[in-house]
Amino acid sequence: MSHFINDECVSCGSCASVCPVEAISAGDSKYVVDEDTCIDCGACEEACPTGAIAAK
Ligand code: SF4
Repeated sequence: MSHFINDECVSCGSCASVCPVEAISAGDSKYVVDEDTCIDCGACEEACPTGAIAAK
């Protein structure tokens, strides 16, 4: 399992700066989570201002 960023993402970058394992990077239209790196800590979910991140 990993966390997933949906289309509510406004590419603010808040999630990437709090991820302890640097699993989040900027994609074409939104930020994306590398499923293999994510340890499901949930830090990004709380950092997101638009509620775009959730466990999937
Ligand atoms: Fe990074 Fe934790 Fe979010 Fe996974 S759940 S992408 S490890 S901040």
